[in-house]
Amino acid sequence: MASRILHMSATLDFLEQVIRDDERRGRSQVFVTDVEYGGPVNYVTALLTINKLREDGFEVFPPCDSIDETGRCRGHKEGEL
Ligand SMILES: [Zn+2]
Repeated sequence: MASRILHMSATLDFLEQVIRDDERRGRSQVFVTDVEYGGPVNYVTALLTINKLREDGFEVFPPCDSIDETGRCRGHKEGEL
């Protein structure tokens, strides 16, 4: 059976709202992760990352390297990832 790869793209506005809401409620930041960091980054880094993506013209948080100019996933061919 062929596997199917789906990538979700959340808008930067939505992500910022959820992250700021979680921070107000004292929850951990879990939406923005960094492999080199080893997991979720802190709130400051997460919000700076979102702002940088906006400055670069993105509308959504890019989930992978196969994206359009807004940051949305263009999809993948089988076996691409
Ligand atoms: Zn993708």
